[in-house]
Amino acid sequence: MCGIVGYIGDEQCYQILIKGLHRLEYRGYDSAGVALIDSNNNINLYKSHGKVAALEKFCESKDVTGTIGIAHTRWATHGEPNDVNAHPHMSQDSNIAIVHNGTIENYKVLKQALIEHGCEFRSETDTEVLVQLIEYIKNSNKCSLLSAVREALNEVIGAYAIAVIDKNTPNTIIAARKSSPLVIGIGENATYLASDATPIIDYTNKVVYLNDDEIAIIKKDEPLSVIKSNNEPSNIDIQTLKLSVSQLEKGGYPHFMLKEIFEQPNTLRDCIRGRVVNDQIQLSGVMDNKERFMNAKRIIIVACGTSWHAGLIGKRLLIDYARIPVEVEYASEFRYSNPVINPDDIVIAISQSGETADTLAAIQIAKEKGAFVYGVCNVVGSSIARATDSGTYIHVGPEIGVASTKAFTGQVTVLTMLAIAIGQLRGTVDDQTVAKIAQSIRQMPELITEALKLNKEIERLSYTFTYAHNFLYLGRGYNFPSALEGALKLKEISYIHAEGYPAAEMKHGPIALIDHELPTVFIAPSDELHEKIISNIQQVKARGGAVIAVITKGDQEIANLANFILEIPEVPECLSPILVSIPLQLLAYHIAVKKGCNVDMPRNLAKSVTVE
Ligand code: GLU
Repeated sequence: MCGIVGYIGDEQCYQILIKGLHRLEYRGYDSAGVALIDSNNNINLYKSHGKVAALEKFCESKDVTGTIGIAHTRWATHGEPNDVNAHPHMSQDSNIAIVHNGTIENYKVLKQALIEHGCEFRSETDTEVLVQLIEYIKNSNKCSLLSAVREALNEVIGAYAIAVIDKNTPNTIIAARKSSPLVIGIGENATYLASDATPIIDYTNKVVYLNDDEIAIIKKDEPLSVIKSNNEPSNIDIQTLKLSVSQLEKGGYPHFMLKEIFEQPNTLRDCIRGRVVNDQIQLSGVMDNKERFMNAKRIIIVACGTSWHAGLIGKRLLIDYARIPVEVEYASEFRYSNPVINPDDIVIAISQSGETADTLAAIQIAKEKGAFVYGVCNVVGSSIARATDSGTYIHVGPEIGVASTKAFTGQVTVLTMLAIAIGQLRGTVDDQTVAKIAQSIRQMPELITEALKLNKEIERLSYTFTYAHNFLYLGRGYNFPSALEGALKLKEISYIHAEGYPAAEMKHGPIALIDHELPTVFIAPSDELHEKIISNIQQVKARGGAVIAVITKGDQEIANLANFILEIPEVPECLSPILVSIPLQLLAYHIAVKKGCNVDMPRNLAKSVTVE
């Protein structure tokens, strides 16, 4: 999920690789490493937990000579971020080194088989399994590095961008991709490799974007060749880049926030990878703690901010599918509330960074009182991940924009899978429902892609609303928390005051605010309470309020009532919070941009709230 850099050519490449890693720093990472082939064809490997600067410091007194090398910034998915788990990883006999972005889903089965063949592992990563497999195939089949890589990749399920070097084939880098990006730069007497073009642009603007299931053979004095994983030749399409480094860093988007909003089809794919299997939900955190989940009498969710909103949606999901009483608490309140916690309670702690101070303190209290604590975090090996008894990572990759977008949809997706997985275990959800939801979860990336097509329309709409000083967001049922999250997004980045409310509560107070200057956003996809929300819309219209409605495509009734409609594809009610969040994120984003706000770093806000 983070960064790869590679070089093969005439020049000493350590500095080129390090500079490339710095260029990729914007993507976020937890450790870095480099492997170089020296003039004696030995692979020198250096890696370090922390920043690229720490790696540079570590390398100060080391032999960093070599004209072929691969380098990596890691965002841990399997195994804590530490020196050993950092990439590159070496095969057992230290002949082959690999860097990898992505995840190998079936690494456990492959690892077991390799152990049975006498393989010894140094790290906890899924990546090491791949390099050991390559070596095993190469040795047992007595084949070339290329064939071994190709065969190994055919055995792997998952997502990867990889670069592989072999001391026995010192003039070659083999690179491949599936679902993780990889770009090759064609220079004068040199070929470059990177996760995006930012490390390459200083040297050449001629690039080849590798496609899924393609393997590139990059040799020192030969032209680039690319084959498909089934061994057929692939066409090489050399493109000329015109973008600047800062445009490239943001994937061509003007802000990280917009990039991250648009990444959501892919981040959702990463989040569900290996977890939705044959119309079943498989979460190892639940499977490994069956007794706990079977016997749980109550679940308490603790979180802050956007994660708390995800928690509210989680509550509905757990009640509907796992039939357990659920409470959702602000971690900051919970920690000082002298809570009654029993040993058969499960506490679910949600935090993107895994470092949120209040959530950590809440976990501490829950553990002292004997509860089983389950974490839902993004950052692998974070404090919360370590402090909890078990958990599920959301695996959406680093989130740079301060206002959370892809982490929120990842959290809700994990909570959906969690509710179903617990329901399966407790027998509170039938196979048909599980299959239906599993299929819908699998379709979510495509549905999000569809919802993202609203971008232009929302941009146009946003001009109309930059004047507003206040906004009201209303939703019901599953989408009451969506209203809270929509309002929070707008507040955070546009500094417009916004409130989220359950739509029916409006008449107990907020209705007094409604006039032609207060826009109301209704989150009203077709669901159980559809008729009820229509009357809420009528109440706002009757008082001269402007209505923006997020509705299911083809909902003529609301389309006739609202001033503006944003249509999303049809989706089961329990998954609608994920889909409605797309137009709400885009609305907040475009209004904030029109107002000239710094959307990626809003004033007074921090990405990771590590203070009380
Ligand atoms: N899954 C690999 C690991 O945990 C690679 C992570 C990455 O993309 O940086 O080491």
